[in-house]
Amino acid sequence: MDILKYTEAHNQFKERVRLFFERAVTPFVDRWERQGMVPRSAWKRMGEEGFLCMGVPAEYGGMGADFLYSVIVTEELSRTNHTGLAAPLHSDVVVPYIVSFGAEEVKKQYLPLCVSGEMITAIAMTEPDAGSDLASITTTAAEYGDEVVINGRKTFISNGIQCDLLVLAARDPAVADPYMSVDLYLVEADTKGFDKEKKLAKMGWHSQDTAELVFTDCRIPSGNRLGRKGSGFFMLMEKLQQERLMVCIIAVAAAEQMLDMTLKYCQKKTDFGRPLAKVGDNRFKIVDMATEIKLGRTFVDKLIADHMEGKNIVIEVSMGKYWTTEMAMRVADQCVELHGGNGCCEENSIARAWRDMRVLSIFAGTNEIMKGIAAKFMGL
Ligand SMILES: Cc1cc2nc3c(=O)[nH]c(=O)nc-3n(C[C@H](O)[C@H](O)[C@H](O)COP(=O)(O)OP(=O)(O)OC[C@H]3O[C@@H](n4cnc5c(N)ncnc54)[C@H](O)[C@@H]3O)c2cc1C
Repeated sequence: MDILKYTEAHNQFKERVRLFFERAVTPFVDRWERQGMVPRSAWKRMGEEGFLCMGVPAEYGGMGADFLYSVIVTEELSRTNHTGLAAPLHSDVVVPYIVSFGAEEVKKQYLPLCVSGEMITAIAMTEPDAGSDLASITTTAAEYGDEVVINGRKTFISNGIQCDLLVLAARDPAVADPYMSVDLYLVEADTKGFDKEKKLAKMGWHSQDTAELVFTDCRIPSGNRLGRKGSGFFMLMEKLQQERLMVCIIAVAAAEQMLDMTLKYCQKKTDFGRPLAKVGDNRFKIVDMATEIKLGRTFVDKLIADHMEGKNIVIEVSMGKYWTTEMAMRVADQCVELHGGNGCCEENSIARAWRDMRVLSIFAGTNEIMKGIAAKFMGL
């Protein structure tokens, strides 16, 4: 029995998304990878089609749709074998902070633009000396009446160059407690003192812009704070469950896509007069991968269902994030192996897929941190 209850409406939406990606995304991916960026026009077209921020309530321009619509867009994006058009980050990681914690006027101001693709968002937590240990961030946000003054540096920020609106984690220097001092603020990209200093050159994710951001006496209104004062760390902890679940979804969908590509290749190419898929150990390698992917799919679909029911699945999502991403990396490795020398050549999509898998175990909390969280909540 299928774990997820897709309706006819979901299936029709999926069909539209798939057709759109086949027409308006896949043919351009090689160019975007070379350019190191996805053009804003692609984001706008996503918005026009209704493929961004589907969960945003209708009064702010969204569909008020359930999480399965996000799952559909994320899985279909994986089939395009690129990561630049980071709609899941925008729609399902960053914008939910505004939906859940933004003041009414802030929601009215920004959400319709996020839905339409006119505004691209990013989230800045990590700093050069604070990644896994988020409580040690040093970027400061000092509140003076109606104004907040921000100073500091953030790194590895996805959508960093293109973003129009940033959710920023910073600490109040007047508060000693490392957890209670953290707040989240919305910072518009053209604010004086906010510089997109450097686009990082990465080993993979070439079409995804990842940047270092600098704040020098950057002044924003105190109304741009999300939630009540001192609750930034707790908001992050609450929303990281969905962010990590998104990574699980991406990992399983990418593994399915890599296996699909590899099966096609192995059925077409011959060795010793037979299709590669039937040669030597290859059959077992393929069965091993298919087994792992099915296990991952079953587990992740259950996580999606539980998440949609509002269950606390912090242990299971932490397990899922580390296991599915390591599984996807194992699958990527085996798929390259099955492609032989061709797997090492850029003209084969599997080369990019292999490169792009590597970061999954690192961002959204490293896999070691995931095991630490699972251990803690298991009382170990
Ligand atoms: C492509 C990319 C995109 C990213 N996008 C974003 C983004 O949009 N926004 C954002 O804020 N950040 C983003 N990040 C940052 C990412 O979340 C961090 O890189 C990650 O959290 C790890 O932090 P770090 O790099 O400082 O590694 P470190 O914390 O220095 O860790 C180094 C190693 O030590 C291990 N380690 C550290 N502490 C422990 C511990 N307590 N127990 C066990 N092992 C430990 C880690 O597991 C890791 O293996 C992105 C990173 C990349 C590469």
